[in-house]
Amino acid sequence: MNLKRKNEIPVDVYIPFVETLFRDGVTLSIGILAQTFLIGLVWWKNGDPRYLVVAIAMVLVGIFRMRNFQKYNSLPSPTTWEEAHKRENDYILYGSMHGLTLGAFCLLGIYFARDDFAEIASVCLTLATATSIAGRNYGSPRMVTILTLALTWPISLGFLLRGDIYHVLLGLLSAPFLFAIRKFANTVRDVLFAAVSEEKKANRLAQRFNRALNTMSHGLVMLGPDGRVAVANAEAAHLMSLKSPDALLGRSIHGLLMRGVAGGMLAPKDCRYIEAQLTRALREGRDRKVLVSLANGQHYEFSAREGSQELGVITFEDVTARVEAEDKIRFMARYDNLTGLPNRAYFHELIGEAMASGDLERLCGLAVLDLDDFKSVNDTLGHPVGDGLIYAVAERLAAVVGPGVTVSRFGGDEFMIFFDRVEDESHLSSQIDEIFIELQGEVDVAGHGLRIQASGGAVLSRVRDTDVDAMIVKADLALHKAKELGKNTWRLFEASMEVAFRNRQLMKADLRTAVESKGLRVVYQPIVAMSTMRIASCEALCRWDHPDLGPISPSIFIPLAEEMGIISEVSTFVLHAACTECAKWPAQTSVSVNLSAKDFRNRDVIEKVRHALASSGLAAGRLEIEVTETALLDDKSLTRQYIEELKRLGVRIALDDFGTGYSSLSYLHKLPLDKIKIDRSFLMDVTQNSRSLELLKGIVNLSRPLGLSVTVEGVETFEQLKILALQVKPDLVQGFLFGSALSASGIETMSSTVWPFAKDIKTARKATHR
Ligand code: C2E
Ligand code: CA
Ligand code: CA
Repeated sequence: MNLKRKNEIPVDVYIPFVETLFRDGVTLSIGILAQTFLIGLVWWKNGDPRYLVVAIAMVLVGIFRMRNFQKYNSLPSPTTWEEAHKRENDYILYGSMHGLTLGAFCLLGIYFARDDFAEIASVCLTLATATSIAGRNYGSPRMVTILTLALTWPISLGFLLRGDIYHVLLGLLSAPFLFAIRKFANTVRDVLFAAVSEEKKANRLAQRFNRALNTMSHGLVMLGPDGRVAVANAEAAHLMSLKSPDALLGRSIHGLLMRGVAGGMLAPKDCRYIEAQLTRALREGRDRKVLVSLANGQHYEFSAREGSQELGVITFEDVTARVEAEDKIRFMARYDNLTGLPNRAYFHELIGEAMASGDLERLCGLAVLDLDDFKSVNDTLGHPVGDGLIYAVAERLAAVVGPGVTVSRFGGDEFMIFFDRVEDESHLSSQIDEIFIELQGEVDVAGHGLRIQASGGAVLSRVRDTDVDAMIVKADLALHKAKELGKNTWRLFEASMEVAFRNRQLMKADLRTAVESKGLRVVYQPIVAMSTMRIASCEALCRWDHPDLGPISPSIFIPLAEEMGIISEVSTFVLHAACTECAKWPAQTSVSVNLSAKDFRNRDVIEKVRHALASSGLAAGRLEIEVTETALLDDKSLTRQYIEELKRLGVRIALDDFGTGYSSLSYLHKLPLDKIKIDRSFLMDVTQNSRSLELLKGIVNLSRPLGLSVTVEGVETFEQLKILALQVKPDLVQGFLFGSALSASGIETMSSTVWPFAKDIKTARKATHR
């Protein structure tokens, strides 16, 4: 095997080929023994000492070859081409000696000895040895050639040298023998070469396949036609808590699943389900995915498909992270993240399902719960405290409700509670009463002791006759009623509420038409100066004459307009009418216009006032804007800023209904005000109640140093006026005593009127002084 050969045969094939040369030492030594014996026999028969020399040479060759065999067989396999090549060369060296010794024997027997037995022995030996040349030495073509030459040439030469025609022909015929042996050896070699190469290739492929199989993140199990594992990878072994994939081989799906059950990973019923699913998938040859949740919280997704040649393939994957993410998303979509209660959508789904099943004749209840004045907690203490309160309420609700009751947070401070299987109205009432009792009381939120107070509305219905949406609408109507009745209570829905609601909806539609078609009008109520008893100003009050219902109070339609978002249109209309009319009145008469807190939502209000003044030509100093405390105290809006801008226009600002809201005198000086109007509720019992009188006096006395003028509203009797004149001494008074609201022209004619009370008061004053 020369260097050229080195390039032709890959070293990993060459090495095993060289190794085959040293494989069968035993038959070789038997052969050598037989050959030595035969040579000895020939020597014994004819006594020719040359045979003895050959026999001794044979013994020596045998010893050399055997030692050479032993040497290499005791060493590990060669790893490099060079090592292998050295072994081959050694082999050839001793093999050649062997061949030459045999050749010498043959040449001796055929040509020199001229002995029949020696001749036959030579031919027999040649034939016997020739058969093993190819079989033993195919691994080394050089050895094959050398041995063939060493064996055939001496015989041929011997025959040729005999000289007679028969022996010459015999000698010539032995030449093809040489080629036949070489050819045979090469064929064996090629066949083996192809086989070894293929095996190497297959091994390499198997290694790659194994590597791919065992490094994949999926577990894989391949089943043979008998349904037992034929191939498995490391991940599969890992899942089954087995050390090596080989330990899985030969087991059935059932056996593997039962192992999972025995290990406490699978429930027996899951095991049956998975087996059924996988077997079905394998049978149908369709891709099917089965999600399996293990006892340790892990989730695996199994896929089964039929492979080629009846090999079924089951792969599985740890999808724990995905399943957990999906669960989280599902949870977030279904539950309110502050309280952990079901949200609106999920509540709807849950109740919808509950109502669709079971006895449709049963009664169920639904209650809506709304915290009272929650907005002020948010506004004054901040949203985190507001959130804390909501959380505390949710906790109490969750603690008090029993089985069959579902609580949900609908957003903001609104909770919805569903009662399945209610016996009757009193059963529902007692459950809601219990909730109200449990809910009440103080709760500590971030160091603030907050009182929980709520209003509620509830409805009781037969499942067959209703649905979730209808129940929610009715509970909401009942809640409105409860709020109207002064909060901190709950009401059960009654049909009349729906009627009122429907009327309200109808009224809203009519109000929209009235606003659009200028169906409103403005009347003016005199405001009288205490010192002169003449009209100093008039309050513009809006009126709506409903075509069917007659005059509707502004205390009803103004909140409706606010709710509908059309209050700004109403205000614009009143502002324009008031400014236009006032411009026609004597110069000493001013006008007051009420603006709603909602008018101060954006700065349009300033433009609106500016425009009303400009288009009517009224001096800004003759216009007064009345605002309520709620508008002024809304910290988040820019109301204060807008009011200051209005003041800069020259318009005066009055605080309306003083005493009905927060009524703290301490903040009066901080607000951009010119006047306060004391609500008529203060005056109502002033004739009987000295405390009310003291309050009135106090407010007036405190306002004066702040540069605020004071109007007292609701003066209905002379008695009240007398007390005001003698003791309270406000700047202005307003009330039915001076007449209710009139048309604009009525004011014009009354503008110079001096009320006769002036004289009476003077008399009264004198009487007290006396
Ligand atoms: P307000 O601003 O306090 O207006 C005074 C209300 O008290 C008027 O009722 C008036 O008729 C009534 N009143 C006057 N003197 C007496 C009296 O001596 N005794 C009694 N019992 N009541 C008296 P009205 O016109 O029904 O208005 C009710 C409320 O509607 C007003 O209260 C005001 O808040 C609102 N409002 C009226 N017109 C408008 C408007 O154009 N715009 C806005 N935003 N609100 C308006
Ligand atoms: Ca007013
Ligand atoms: Ca008022």
